Amino acid sequence: MGKPLVLGNWKMHGTQRSAHALALGVVARAAEFSHVDVGLCPPFVHIPTVAAVVFGSAIRVGAQNVSERGEGAFTGEIAATMLRELGCTYVLVGHSERRQGYAETNAGVVAKYVHAHAAGLCPVLCVGETLAERQTNATETVIESQLEPLVARPDVVALLAHGVIAYEPVWAIGTGETATPAQAQSVHAFIRRRLAAVGPNVAQSVRIVYGGSVKPVNANELFAMPDVDGGLIGGAALKIEDFVAICVSAEQLRRGR
Ligand code: PEP
Repeated sequence: MGKPLVLGNWKMHGTQRSAHALALGVVARAAEFSHVDVGLCPPFVHIPTVAAVVFGSAIRVGAQNVSERGEGAFTGEIAATMLRELGCTYVLVGHSERRQGYAETNAGVVAKYVHAHAAGLCPVLCVGETLAERQTNATETVIESQLEPLVARPDVVALLAHGVIAYEPVWAIGTGETATPAQAQSVHAFIRRRLAAVGPNVAQSVRIVYGGSVKPVNANELFAMPDVDGGLIGGAALKIEDFVAICVSAEQLRRGR
């Protein structure tokens, strides 16, 4: 297992003031999880505020989305190079709320991945099945189709060696429902096996984090799974105590391994 990674996805929440306070609260506690990579992904407009607060600390800043194109006449879009210039390290690509609400396609998500990587960002590829897909035993087929445009391109597969995949079952996001540790482990292992088929080194080094109602009460058992390398945290990332507790869970398991 690589160094654990815990990312906070703040979604479309907060003001400049609350973003500043939240980032400051996490930075103040950073010594408690010094063996964990931690990133905060605020809304675009709060990135400069958060970047200024985390500057000089081990906490990194990320974005929740990026254009699949380079700079140009694309009204309302944000280029990967712009995020990099603002100091972003991470960027989420293909979050289910974007796949579902903004019709993002598997191919478009991979285009974002490639652009983000080329700009020097660490893209976090989000995958996951809906409840109906799980109930019809289609989970692996869906994950396979989400990974397909990636694994079909050897140049992109190589990028994954230092990359991150977030497994986020759609039915667990923001619902209070969490995948059981066994359910998470099973899908994470599937993703690793799938990547191993195209690049054994990639499968070993890629970090696969779990997202979907991770809270202080369930973080320990999820992070204890052998193929779970950390978490992508939504609601609980908006509360300093909860987010710090989750980071500390990752830290303890890292030390225990
Ligand atoms: C997310 O949106 O990536 C997420 C995991 O949200 P929550 O933790 O609130 O389920």
